[in-house]
Parts: sequence; C-alpha cells; structure tokens
Amino acid sequence: MQGGLFGDETATENCIFCKIIAGKAPGHILYRNDEVMCFLDIAPVSAGHTLIIPLKHHDNIFTLNDAEATALAIQARRLAPIVKRVTGADGLGVHQLNGRAAGQTVFHYHTHLIPCFHGKPMQIHGRKPASQDSLADMAERLRTALK
Ligand code: AMP
Ligand code: ZN
Repeated sequence: MQGGLFGDETATENCIFCKIIAGKAPGHILYRNDEVMCFLDIAPVSAGHTLIIPLKHHDNIFTLNDAEATALAIQARRLAPIVKRVTGADGLGVHQLNGRAAGQTVFHYHTHLIPCFHGKPMQIHGRKPASQDSLADMAERLRTALK
C-alpha cells in the first residue's frame, strides 16, 4: 500500500527516512549521533519544522525501547529552544503520530518540532514542499546555532 505522497514506508528497505540515514536520499540534516538524526521536514508547516528520528527503523512508538525513547526525548529538549529562537516563533509544538488512524504518513518513528505563531492555527502537516534553497538556508542557520 502506498504510504503517502513521499513513498511506500511499509518496508524498511523502502523507507524514505532509512534512505536519508543511509545517504541514499537527500535531506537537510541538522545533527546526528549514534542513536538519532535530526533533519528538516521537506514540507514544513512553518520554516524550521524539524523531525527527530531513531537511526534504527521503528514504524512507530510501539516498538521503541527505553534507550531509544530517551535519546529521542533528549534531542527534542536540546533542539526545541534553538528552533524556537532561530525561527522567532512564539511557541513550539512537539508532536508524534502513530498509525494511519492517528494521521501518520511516514512509517519510521519521528518527532515533529513545529514553530508556532500567535494568530496562526496549529497544524501538524504542511501543504507543499519548501524550496531547496529555503531549506538549505534554514538548515545552515540551525546548524550554526547548535554549535
Ligand atoms: P507524519 O504524518 O507524522 O508521518 O509526518 C511525516 C512527515 O514527513 C511530513 O511532515 C512530511 O512532510 C515529512 N516528509 C516526508 N518525506 C520527507 C522527506 N523526504 N524529507 C523530509 N521530510 C519528509
Ligand atoms: Zn526507516
């Protein structure tokens, strides 16, 4: 079954996020260690929309172990203030969807960090891909702020 706009995510070998981890698909990567990777969402709700994923493929939260869950939470806490500051956001949504019924569209576990602004309704999914130039520019600003 087609997993969404961006490919079939039902099998690990076809998982777009595993391909980004392996360097076989492009991604605007902010940070990576032995456990997790952080990169920009290709279709951001707002500029700076970031995804945090485990390097090991898990479809969703239900199979994560404690160490993986901890590593993901630590990165969310580390990146949250930086994404908020660099984007000038008023707030930051931290969201995570599990299963089609919950609205999940890419079946490799990920945490969304979404910059939010007063007067702009909260969304979890963007409507269209951002330009490569704008993603590259934002990634550079966030990488610099993370140093
Ligand atoms: P979810 O609906 O929670 O599964 O969110 C999946 C997210 O992955 C969406 O916000 C998509 O825009 C994003 N996405 C899909 N393909 C890519 C990709 N190749 N690079 C970066 N983000 C992606
Ligand atoms: Zn995967």
